Amino acid sequence: MIYAANFKTNHTRKTTKDYIKKLQEKIVTKKTEDSVYIFPPSTALDHFEGDFTVGTQNAYPAQNGAYTGEIGVEQLEEFAIKTILIGHSERREVLGESQEIVSAKFAYFKEQGFEIIYCIGEPLEVREQGDSAVMEYLLAQFEGIDTSYEDLIIAYEPIWAIGTGRSATVEEIASTHEALKKTVQKPLLYGGSAKPANIKEITSIRGVDGVLVGSASLDVESFSQMILS
Ligand code: PEP
Repeated sequence: MIYAANFKTNHTRKTTKDYIKKLQEKIVTKKTEDSVYIFPPSTALDHFEGDFTVGTQNAYPAQNGAYTGEIGVEQLEEFAIKTILIGHSERREVLGESQEIVSAKFAYFKEQGFEIIYCIGEPLEVREQGDSAVMEYLLAQFEGIDTSYEDLIIAYEPIWAIGTGRSATVEEIASTHEALKKTVQKPLLYGGSAKPANIKEITSIRGVDGVLVGSASLDVESFSQMILS
């Protein structure tokens, strides 16, 4: 299983360091086949050693240059960061990243040999229209994306389940993952209000290869409980 923590705009450089130290101590007993990812805010990126991968939540598709407020590959290389989240719904919805921008980022970071966790997910009004509307919406988020890229992990994150405390049901996750796996044969994570109370249920679903966790990853006790569940 893959357990990925997305801190979003939470935690500082100091609290991230403390978190990672504690996490490392707690996950010494994790299954060797399980892998752990942490996506802290950009200011907390650093060289961290341990049985986990630290990635960036975002970066601009350039080595460096005149991109005020952004970080590029040069800043990531300083900390040997080679993993990136692309297509998160908050970047699409709040930061206005179109499919064109998302796919340009994907192409650039693929070219740079980054491991990519590529996020897709539908809004509630699409989910309410039924399974075929959901699949049509999700497949459109693969436009311009090389789904055969070897270092690719997909995260299915229904937008209405993110940060709401309301996870998708077992049936919704199972049927969507099954349908997605017909198109993309890559590790497939579920994201959306995954927490210690539902982690076992979610990771037991066929077609779920791991979880991308926001809120419940902010507390190291809660995230490590999920990893060790
Ligand atoms: C996320 O934003 O990637 C996410 C899954 O958030 P949460 O766990 O808080 O729903």
